[in-house]
Amino acid sequence: MKTFSLRKKPMLLAATAALALSLSACGGTGGGGTSTSSTDEAPYKVAENVSVSGSPTFDAIKAGGKVRIGVKQDQPGLGFKDAATGEYTGFDIEIAQWIAASLGLSKDKIEFKPIPSASRESAITNGDIDYYVGTYSITDKRKQQIDFAGPYFVTGQGLLVKKDNSTITTEKDLSGKNVCSATGSTPIQNIKANFPDTKTTEFDTYSQCVEALKSGQVDAVTTDQAILIGYAAQEPDSLKVVGEPFTTEKYGVGLKKDDTALRQFINKTLTDGGSVWQKIYDKTLGQSGTKVQQPAVDNY
Ligand code: GLU
Repeated sequence: MKTFSLRKKPMLLAATAALALSLSACGGTGGGGTSTSSTDEAPYKVAENVSVSGSPTFDAIKAGGKVRIGVKQDQPGLGFKDAATGEYTGFDIEIAQWIAASLGLSKDKIEFKPIPSASRESAITNGDIDYYVGTYSITDKRKQQIDFAGPYFVTGQGLLVKKDNSTITTEKDLSGKNVCSATGSTPIQNIKANFPDTKTTEFDTYSQCVEALKSGQVDAVTTDQAILIGYAAQEPDSLKVVGEPFTTEKYGVGLKKDDTALRQFINKTLTDGGSVWQKIYDKTLGQSGTKVQQPAVDNY
């Protein structure tokens, strides 16, 4: 499986083209995800008469008439809230809306709740949200508290530095450096566990780390490369992504533990969507020129 990488690889481009062809050949619908040919509107329809029998979360969504989805709000390209309009955009947001549509909920029935990395498990277990879509890596530790549908995307830990930095080119250069990441994230845990000579600085969000990088408080920001590419793209004159991804991060949809009916329903939406995933990718992260394939779901 290919990870989301900064470099464009000719072989991968060919593989993606082949995949796009085979996906359009089989077409297909699933979980209410009917494909349409228009590029302007969403590449799926809001499903009708949905039932997810045995799902307490779905029962609560139906009773309340809306779905509360946990997301990120400061990660351009993935989960981003426009301060002026209040509108959310990005790959994760589109995936979240696609899943909502497959459950029968249109955009106006969605309430997005911005929740930082460290608070995701508690937001799910407390019932503050119905599901979470926000650069959320599937890990065995998190699976002790919650369940994951997916994965729906694969990336890996990377590094963001100032444009004029020439001392950090890969993770091997982090000794003696001060690296910033978000509390409760897999990248901060990896640095603490495997880079003993590296100093760490933590904030709730990655945008706070980016500010600390720009002000010279830290030498690098580390998190998933897909996230860092979004920050670098916003300020290409002052920031750059360096090195290759040095972990594998598989993004899942966070759900209440043991809501197996909902987990299987979302996995079916992701699996049976035909070209929906590719269209969502192309209009969001794919705008940077990168090409990746939809990963297979893990129906554990
Ligand atoms: N994917 C990693 C994680 O789930 C880093 C990104 C994030 O904090 O959302 O911890």
